[in-house]
Amino acid sequence: MSAPLTEHEPMVRQRRHNFIDGQWSTPSRADVIDVENPCTTSIIGCAPSATAADIDMAIDAAHRARRGWAATPADERAAFIDRIREGIEERLEEFATTWTQEVGIPITTARAATGGLPISGLRAIADIARTMPWQEQMSNSRIVHDPIGVVAAITPWNYPLSQIATKTAAALAAGCTVVAKPSEVAPLCAYAFADVVAAAGLPAGVFNLVGGTGIDAGEPLITDARVGAISFTGSTATGRRVMTAAAANITRVCLELGGKSAAVVLDEEILATAIQASIASCLRNSGQTCTSLTRLIVPQHLAAAATELAAELFSAAVVGDPMDERTTIGPLVSAAQRDRVLGYIRKGVESGARLVVGGAGPITDLPGWFVAPTVFADVDPSSVIAQEEIFGPVLSIITVADRAEAIAVANGVDYGLAGSVWASDPDEAVEVAMQIEAGSITVNGGVFNTEAPYGGLKQSGIGYELGRAGIEEFLTTRVLHLV
Ligand code: NDP
Repeated sequence: MSAPLTEHEPMVRQRRHNFIDGQWSTPSRADVIDVENPCTTSIIGCAPSATAADIDMAIDAAHRARRGWAATPADERAAFIDRIREGIEERLEEFATTWTQEVGIPITTARAATGGLPISGLRAIADIARTMPWQEQMSNSRIVHDPIGVVAAITPWNYPLSQIATKTAAALAAGCTVVAKPSEVAPLCAYAFADVVAAAGLPAGVFNLVGGTGIDAGEPLITDARVGAISFTGSTATGRRVMTAAAANITRVCLELGGKSAAVVLDEEILATAIQASIASCLRNSGQTCTSLTRLIVPQHLAAAATELAAELFSAAVVGDPMDERTTIGPLVSAAQRDRVLGYIRKGVESGARLVVGGAGPITDLPGWFVAPTVFADVDPSSVIAQEEIFGPVLSIITVADRAEAIAVANGVDYGLAGSVWASDPDEAVEVAMQIEAGSITVNGGVFNTEAPYGGLKQSGIGYELGRAGIEEFLTTRVLHLV
């Protein structure tokens, strides 16, 4: 099914300044990076194309502000985070629309998600900051948890508000100052976030935003010795590069990277519920979600029923203009991303997997970067489509003989970000979930809790976001041994 392009004015946003030292600052060069609407392919705005000189100014401002902010009482810092959250709440529709227009996520999903994680995550971070033990006594020793200094926050394009908001809030809660660099592909939500932070009245230099590419702006940011920690979300390939660069100054890294997450379904009684939830996850944001459940692992005797149900749900997806409220699948974010995903679909066919729905052909007459929601069955767990992160609306159904093989296949990838386990016996579901090598596992549809830490294992990352652990990423520990 496909939804037509609706009549709507593109939201043109010309962002030509960086936010540095509490002010909108003219970049060192006038060049800008155009931002494209991936549905219409028209240009809807721009952001600065910063250089090392702009990054230097931003780090300088954050470095100068760090002592004052660290000395600000934790409950005052928490109050600023509350104000930022309230600022987001006042502009939910603007954030959702901007996200849809720069990334292509369906507007109904964008609205729900904008009112979700950024709000509850920031509320939790502020609450935790108010009660965290910043100093502890252990017999004759005083253990002091200090902010690490300047945090470099580098974010991808897929969830452009929640990533910058949660990194910033956790760093501010810890008493750190921030230099943020959003993705050049979708920087406009990050700029709207900077508007909110500016209105919240943080002291100058505590939060800084610089627009630019990974090479021109990201590299100088991660290689600067004044940066205390790098909080990076993005691909595993770039994460590896960030970690290597950070080694020069022994800078701490927190990496939230890619995933190849599995839904493990153990019995028939729960099959329909499990598949519905897993497919909603797989197709969310056109599959451009790090935690997407892109592998469906089912026992042999349920394979036919699972494939039929998955095919039905994929065929019912409404592909179209993401501003149309009927649309459930928008375009991919860019031509490059579309071509990458089509390449994986071709590799799936070449690998001998059975193409059940979709494929690499056209799906709509719209001008943007659309890919047909695609289901492969009989997928070899060692094949490319079962091993690599595709980041598109592509599901691989893998059949296993028994529970032990299901666990082995779920764990048989380089990634360890998320997963889900489904069994009609809740104890069995927990027992299997305990054996899944992933940082975040939902059991029988358990809801994602934004008070809890979130992070990946294996090549999905190092460190945590959200919750107390997310704040601790930006703390150092000193010990005073007293008489
Ligand atoms: P990239 O790794 O391409 O980019 C992420 C960010 O890093 C962008 O801001 C990019 O800048 C910047 N960057 C690129 N090169 C460098 C460099 N050499 N030094 C410093 N910064 C650099 O990821 P995508 O934006 O394509 O995002 C998709 C990826 O993010 C997927 O793999 C997805 O799984 C992962 N992700 C992980 C999440 C998690 O929580 N684990 C959550 C969301 C996404 P620019 O693009 O402007 O050049």
